[in-house]
Amino acid sequence: MTQPEIRVQDLHKSFGDNHVLRGIDLEIGHGEVVCVIGPSGSGKSTLLRCVNLLEEPSTGEVFVGGTEITDPDVDIDAVRRRIGMVFQQFNLFPHLNVTENLTLPQRRVLRRDKAQAARIAAENLARVGLSEKADAYPSSLSGGQQQRVAIARALAMGPEVMLFDEPTSALDPELVGDVLAVMRRLAEEGMTMMVVTHEMTFAREVADRVVFMDGGVIVEDGTPDQVIARPRHERTRHFLSRLL
Ligand code: ADP
Ligand code: MG
Repeated sequence: MTQPEIRVQDLHKSFGDNHVLRGIDLEIGHGEVVCVIGPSGSGKSTLLRCVNLLEEPSTGEVFVGGTEITDPDVDIDAVRRRIGMVFQQFNLFPHLNVTENLTLPQRRVLRRDKAQAARIAAENLARVGLSEKADAYPSSLSGGQQQRVAIARALAMGPEVMLFDEPTSALDPELVGDVLAVMRRLAEEGMTMMVVTHEMTFAREVADRVVFMDGGVIVEDGTPDQVIARPRHERTRHFLSRLL
């Protein structure tokens, strides 16, 4: 691997007495897709949130594109601009239409002018297959469409890295496929992605690596074939057996 896009070194995070992340070491290369799996409460969301400083790590270091973002002097807003995040809940503004949801953060955070923001919004709506919904309000869209808008909103900021935290967990089963298809295309375009998911088919087919977390540590890190098809650890086998 050349210089990794994301590097996490001996990361610990506690909430009071609750020692949630217990020494995470992880490198993600440029253009690599890493799926993070593991039981509820194992620290997956906390890890993602530490990578874009939504949570402050207790100790350890996080680098994104060579910048140490855990350096106290770092410009947090500048870091966040480089990292797109998609959550289980889409968090669209209900009173704004789709285009306005995409242009607002571009104008506020990146200071793009109206025409440029609208052009980039349209490009990214096309990317997620929702050009025809440009003027629609979120409440008129399905959950899957809303999540694709949320992905387009993140992409419109031009991130180097995309983090996804269970992006399909809140969706009706029949809507999951469209969102995964958008993520798959993004992976094929070469986006660096870290995806917390329970979608094992997606992990097996799209991920370059799968990381299994349990109890705040990485138990297993390898290719999908190594981790999903031939797990070495009993804890991984136990977790996977309960998903099937
Ligand atoms: P996962 O995403 O794997 O389900 P989380 O990272 O959400 O796990 O949570 C791991 C642990 O950290 C849980 O015990 C949870 O209660 C705790 N935790 C997460 N976020 C916070 C927070 N903001 N304040 C206090 N405890 C938290
Ligand atoms: Mg979580």
